[in-house]
Amino acid sequence: MTKEDCIFCKIVKGEIPANKIYEDKEVIAFLDAFPFLRGQTLVIPKKHIAPWLFDVEDKTYTKLMLYVKKVVRAVEKAMKPFKTGIIVEGIELEHVHIKVFPFPETGLLGYPKKLDPLPSKEEMHEIAEKIKRELS
Ligand SMILES: [Zn+2]
Repeated sequence: MTKEDCIFCKIVKGEIPANKIYEDKEVIAFLDAFPFLRGQTLVIPKKHIAPWLFDVEDKTYTKLMLYVKKVVRAVEKAMKPFKTGIIVEGIELEHVHIKVFPFPETGLLGYPKKLDPLPSKEEMHEIAEKIKRELS
């Protein structure tokens, strides 16, 4: 997907209407047009930067996540959810976006099934070590 046919870029430019919640020079937050939950909100950088949040440079990433926190607080006050979660998967659209989910109750999205059988103690230890090694 190019920048030219990116739906989020069109929302930023005002070519597609959106229920905007917040906007400044760098960031825009608006209601997800196809929500699973009432108050489901998207927070995006205005620039069509990397498709994947974790490729974004630190300064922008931090800023974005602080905006997300701000939006989450507002959504919580507004929607009084049981709990608010965020999801970043970026599967459908190559424009960094963070989804804010105000859950009215637990288990609404349905988690993938638990691994069965569960990984052994040894495998769990191995996995933890593997990830730990990559942190340094
Ligand atoms: Zn875009």
